[in-house]
Amino acid sequence: MKSEVLKGLVFNIQRYSIHDGTGIRTVVFLKGCPLKCPWCANPESQKAVTPTTWIKNGKLENVGEWLTVSEVVAEVLKDEVFFRTSGGGVTLSGGEVLMQMAFARELLKTFYELGIHTAIETTGCYPKERLLSLLPYLNELLFDLKLMDSQQSKQVIGADVETVKANFELALMQSDIEVVPRIPLIPTYTTTPDNLLAIIDYLNTLNIRTVHLLPFHQYGSSKYDYLGWEYQLKDMPTLSDSSLKAIYQMFETNELTPIMEGLA
Ligand code: SF4
Repeated sequence: MKSEVLKGLVFNIQRYSIHDGTGIRTVVFLKGCPLKCPWCANPESQKAVTPTTWIKNGKLENVGEWLTVSEVVAEVLKDEVFFRTSGGGVTLSGGEVLMQMAFARELLKTFYELGIHTAIETTGCYPKERLLSLLPYLNELLFDLKLMDSQQSKQVIGADVETVKANFELALMQSDIEVVPRIPLIPTYTTTPDNLLAIIDYLNTLNIRTVHLLPFHQYGSSKYDYLGWEYQLKDMPTLSDSSLKAIYQMFETNELTPIMEGLA
């Protein structure tokens, strides 16, 4: 009997990214996410690992393609020279990478063995065994921290904070993996003083000194129209420079070094 070839559902491969890990990176977006963040810029990745259709510019399109590990590797290696010169590599993103654990693991293992720097972006919302199975093939872990109040987190995005924290702390115990906490700055959700101070307290407890801050944007807004879904944050303005600076200073005065995109 012929053995089945492992395939993963990939909804985008983005080249020349400089915000998703060290150096210049190619980001492979895997479909499927257990959360339901109202601000999601990749709503087409949400829900189960199944193809989605949307109507874009009047045309019905399938979002996502089943690809083999070899197909993804061949595409990513086109930019190997940029990885070598910038210290970059490949980043798996989503959705939640661990929704397609077997495929993600095989991809990371292949890249790691080829000497390509590997990273994942993750929500931290899964049983720890899943994370443990990827750790041997990871150089960098971009780890989202969103809402620290357990009830609010459960209600608003569907995330169990205790699971997120346990996985974050597990990752920090790995001496050979760089763990980067990342906080999406979403007005009225994550940027309340209570939430930001809870994140700061938590990071200070763990002796973490650097944090990445990701300001809210509206780049994903049109995707909700393509999908025919309501976008709750459609009219939400982006944060002003003064609000961003105030948040930046809040971290700085609490002994953290914030790295924020787009702040002069
Ligand atoms: S975790 Fe990311 S991909 Fe999943 S719903 Fe939230 S913002 Fe969207």
